[in-house]
Amino acid sequence: MSGRVAVVTGGTRGIGAASADALRQQGYRVAVTYNSNEQAAQAFTSRTGIPAFRFDAASAEQCAAGVQKIVDSMGPIEVLVNNAGITRDAMLHKMTHDQWNEVIQTNLSSCFNLCVGVVGPMRDRGFGRIINIGSINGQTGQLGQTAYAAAKAGMHGFTLALAREGASRGVTANLIAPGYIDTELLHAVPPEELVKIRARIPVGRLGRSEEIARAVTFLASDRAGFITGSTLTVNGGQHMY
Ligand code: NDP
Repeated sequence: MSGRVAVVTGGTRGIGAASADALRQQGYRVAVTYNSNEQAAQAFTSRTGIPAFRFDAASAEQCAAGVQKIVDSMGPIEVLVNNAGITRDAMLHKMTHDQWNEVIQTNLSSCFNLCVGVVGPMRDRGFGRIINIGSINGQTGQLGQTAYAAAKAGMHGFTLALAREGASRGVTANLIAPGYIDTELLHAVPPEELVKIRARIPVGRLGRSEEIARAVTFLASDRAGFITGSTLTVNGGQHMY
């Protein structure tokens, strides 16, 4: 059993919730963050006993204060899962600046906002695990997702650079690129589009949050110390390279 402190952003629903619960089951002391859905946060905490901290991952100020609050109540963060993410789909010629900024700030700037206060202490302690949740659509592009794909591809470069910076100090950084996973995020995809997407998945079904959670616990473990700067695709064979 690990006993290490793990934080999962956007950990009250979907992939984040499954990842947080899987880490808890492995013996981590876990905290999750969320943005606004109080009801989901309360339901998650009462189901798992995992504390949920409310702050906007897109806000540098809120993240600095939120990280400090978590460290004060739980101790230094040793595993950070940057999972919080949103979609605001629109074709580029109809996309507003607000949509673009919201997606970039929530999905990409959040990684900086969280890591900036966490990576220094990890380096000092000689151990850390940064796990970023990217997307198949950051690898392939997708209609209506210039902002989302740019943010997710940006997370890829962010991960590689951070992996180089942390390698000699015991701090690994890896990216998981999920394919289509059956969560509330997919409610924004029109049902007829989802039928077409499912038909393109060789495994023949959508993924499950628990299947991403298993990848998270693997990369978080002490035994994954030689894996850094890697992209782990978990997509039912939809995109192979
Ligand atoms: P969900 O919509 O099910 O859950 C999103 C979680 O992120 C919620 O806990 C939500 O909190 C939180 N969140 C959203 N915005 C913020 C914010 N600004 N600050 C803090 N927390 C925030 O999403 P999924 O579980 O499906 O997705 C999780 C990650 O996986 C995302 O990064 C997504 O891009 C990625 N992904 C998902 C895929 C899928 O098919 N589902 C495929 C590929 C990647 P609240 O409840 O308060 O809103």
